[in-house]
Amino acid sequence: MPKATRDLRILISNDDGYGAPGIRALERIAKALSKDVWVVAPEVEQSATSHSLTLRRPLRVRKQKPRHFTVDGTPTDCVLVAVQSIIRDRKPDLVLSGINMGSNLGEDVTYSGTVAAAMEGALLGIKAIAFSQVRDADGRLDFSAAEHHAPNLIRKLLTVKWRRETLMNVNFPALRPEAVKGIQVCRQGRREAGTSVQEGRDPSGRPYVWIGQFLSDDSAEPDTDLSAMTEGLISVTPLHLDLTHAPSLKDLGALF
Ligand code: MN
Repeated sequence: MPKATRDLRILISNDDGYGAPGIRALERIAKALSKDVWVVAPEVEQSATSHSLTLRRPLRVRKQKPRHFTVDGTPTDCVLVAVQSIIRDRKPDLVLSGINMGSNLGEDVTYSGTVAAAMEGALLGIKAIAFSQVRDADGRLDFSAAEHHAPNLIRKLLTVKWRRETLMNVNFPALRPEAVKGIQVCRQGRREAGTSVQEGRDPSGRPYVWIGQFLSDDSAEPDTDLSAMTEGLISVTPLHLDLTHAPSLKDLGALF
């Protein structure tokens, strides 16, 4: 374990819940870097909850084992409660979220609880990285490429300056570790297909609608997180919490 990272306090969370295999993989990655690793994760799955915060009811924190806690809330709740309560003795140096069971590419970022946990870290002034694993053609997940490549990727990211309120979104292609072609720093893409809504009838004949995630990862735009997956690359996309669209400021400036 290199000296530079050994004493980092690392907080881990996710949106797939405490029992998800992806968070075990991320814990192994964090432990390759540091001795001071904490896990605070949602009790049950919270995928696509985005950056929601629980305000209208109390939250219960349950200790699962030393340094491992669950919160009956969202990923955002977990990071906030960890930093302000569970490990308030010392602020984490790094928040790692994931590894999500499925991609967080393009517009996924706006729905993702995995990315939101990292957003909360960034809001609290902590370097934060969201990790997601793309499923293979049969829907299977293999975290071995992530486990092999993530420790060095994190070490490298920690060597550069991070601007205020930025976070990193990292996706791993569905490839064996040795088949990964490299790491690409790229922008957030946009899928050509939208999210589908399926209409049907329940067993008693009442109509329902069901939002599905039958998105294809096709995108014509190069140099995006989506195109990186097609090319067998790990994508690293820096995200910013200031959502202001600067060019529109100029367009609207003369209006009022
Ligand atoms: Mn998820």
